[in-house]
Amino acid sequence: MRFPLCSQVVGMTTPQIDSARLWKSLTEISVFGATPAGGLHRLAASKEDGQARDYVVAAARELGCAVRIDALGNTFMRRAGSDANAKAILVGSHLDSQPLGGKYDGIYGVMAGLELLRVLHESRTETKHAIEVAVWTNEEGARFAPAMMGAAYFAGKFTADELLVRKDVDGVQLGNSLTEIGYAGIDIVSPVEHKAYFEIHIEQGPILQDENLQIGVVTLVQGMRWFRIGISGQSGHTGTYPMETRRDALVAASHLIKAVQQIGLDQPLTGRATVGHLVVTPNSPNVIPGHVELMVEFRNPEVAVLDVMTASLNQALKETADKYGVEVVSKQELDSATIDFTSELIDLVEQAASACGKTSKRMISGAGHDACQLSAVMPTTMIFIPCDKGISHAENEAITQDWAADGAAVLVETVLAFDSK
Ligand SMILES: [Zn+2]
Repeated sequence: MRFPLCSQVVGMTTPQIDSARLWKSLTEISVFGATPAGGLHRLAASKEDGQARDYVVAAARELGCAVRIDALGNTFMRRAGSDANAKAILVGSHLDSQPLGGKYDGIYGVMAGLELLRVLHESRTETKHAIEVAVWTNEEGARFAPAMMGAAYFAGKFTADELLVRKDVDGVQLGNSLTEIGYAGIDIVSPVEHKAYFEIHIEQGPILQDENLQIGVVTLVQGMRWFRIGISGQSGHTGTYPMETRRDALVAASHLIKAVQQIGLDQPLTGRATVGHLVVTPNSPNVIPGHVELMVEFRNPEVAVLDVMTASLNQALKETADKYGVEVVSKQELDSATIDFTSELIDLVEQAASACGKTSKRMISGAGHDACQLSAVMPTTMIFIPCDKGISHAENEAITQDWAADGAAVLVETVLAFDSK
């Protein structure tokens, strides 16, 4: 389906974004939670999260936007449209980071949204629909579980009461933390107010940079499964117990970890299989490891492939138990389906990128995003920009000013094209 692009509507030109202004705002907001190594440590509902929100809210208020905050602290900045009866167009992302994370994951999407509001304000562009920029609370899930919490609440998956009592490792409740930073809101904001959701984000992978492309047109977010595996052997004295009859849980785990790697490699290009969490008990240099707990994570866009990977895991668990004389138990903890974005919006982003003169390709998202939650309640899609070497969730996560500006220009074109349809 084709929408009229702004550049195609007679007498209308797309207002231009201000690259230097966008870069300055990205630089300014990165001081809240800045780490000495150039990264960001800004956990959800922390003091630094509050400061970053204050920065964005103040900027939006200067533009005359109305600000609303819901019970989970999701923050909405709304620029009115000419038709009071038309639903709003929603744009958003998150301002929280992983511990020792990067300055652009999530933050870029919010600041590109702010640049959109600024461009519309400065060019006195009248849109039919209100344009609303959202900051979703706790996308990362690093301090409070689950991840994508604010967006999931907005989409109606949880009640506020269920989530506000979630505690961090120090026993501090989310609700109290939001009150402390001034973001325990009372506004009721509902998805029925919105016509569509657009999220722009760094790719968090190397494809766009490797292929020298400016824009990723995201078609789907791949599915994911998590398995918690317990391996029980026999602990004992490392100096006295003979090698031949040991039931070493960590040695068994090492076999399983290699098998998991192979399960990923067996699905060329699309397979993702990782053991990223390991707990060894008792974890002492002179005790044979008696128990290991580890997490296996699989990702793939195809359910059928995830099923194959899961069957291979079950086979590997059995082999591990047989070969090392250990007991192995497995519990699936997460089964997250592939999220397909809205085809009309995908087409629109592709056309907008081309109208802006930017190179693009269709791609999938390897990571979960707030947009996954939003897609359950309204037409949704995402736009990616490159990030250096694909590095993300790390202090050396980096983008260039040009990449940031290219994405913001496409976001503006996309939103205005959608507004005029
Ligand atoms: Zn993110």
